[in-house]
Amino acid sequence: MRAFAYQRATSVAEAVATGLASATSFVAGGTTLLDLVKLDVMRPEQVIDVNRLPLARVEILPDGGLRVGALVRNSDLAWHPAVQERYPVLSAALLSGASPQLRNMATTGGNLMQRTRCPYFRDNHSACNKREPGSGCAALEGCNRSHAILGGSDACIATHPSDMCVALAVLDATVELEGPGSRRSVPFAAFHLLPGRTPEREHALEPGELITAVTLPPAPSGARQQYVKLRDRESFEFALASAAVLLTREGDRIGEARVAFGGVATKPWRSAAAEQVLRGAPATLETFRAASAAALREAQPRRHNAFKLSLARQALERALSDAVS
Ligand code: SF4
Repeated sequence: MRAFAYQRATSVAEAVATGLASATSFVAGGTTLLDLVKLDVMRPEQVIDVNRLPLARVEILPDGGLRVGALVRNSDLAWHPAVQERYPVLSAALLSGASPQLRNMATTGGNLMQRTRCPYFRDNHSACNKREPGSGCAALEGCNRSHAILGGSDACIATHPSDMCVALAVLDATVELEGPGSRRSVPFAAFHLLPGRTPEREHALEPGELITAVTLPPAPSGARQQYVKLRDRESFEFALASAAVLLTREGDRIGEARVAFGGVATKPWRSAAAEQVLRGAPATLETFRAASAAALREAQPRRHNAFKLSLARQALERALSDAVS
């Protein structure tokens, strides 16, 4: 492991001013960063500890929404009464991730910044455009069982690993950022970037910007929410395919419909195609099957991961059935 300078920030302004320097990383729970520093995959020259910043509050907003500070730990968020009552899909997604010990350390902001679990990315001896731009992608012709079938490119097919982010996608979250002298909000759908030709660029953060909070609008009245995660083993495992859904009912028909996938795409994957099929349609298994077929019509399976097509369909159809039952 390489040596780095360590500094503890005492204010957000100080953190973002210091964060402007090149090769600087913020650290909170450290559950991704320290792993990758030990593997020599991430090589910060300076690490700024943000744990003492006043960003660990969950606030109920006047409109009924929620503002979640970037330092709120995943366990605290999952068990927060307002999250359990109003955003059960978020609680379920959080509790399906990692282990209790990791959830006690991992933060909301850090979860947004999780790096891929692509084994070639984590191995310095393999070609990886994300780790070393222009070096190639060992996964394209290598073992790609865990890789993406949606949103990939010729440069990278790595999946985004977060469960929490799949729930945030259907909750229409907004990410609040603070940079040197400026604040801005980014819609969740625009926060993570598709790999395209620049897979090393994973998110919309500008140099020095720090995630300060995630804001959730109120869930639609009467909305039913569900998260289904399919994986190799029942705990402490990343999704091979997962689905988050939020539905409202209008009699026997579906009103509002929001659908997102995890484990199968290069970013938390909101499916407009599935939502279009669901809106206004009868809440039946036939409709759910049509929605899952539409969601995966553009999928591009690779040599070892075609099984994810049926796994993603099953995850979505189960989530929809559970939501309306
Ligand atoms: Fe690297 Fe992406 Fe290819 Fe994995 S899939 S080896 S992260 S470029």
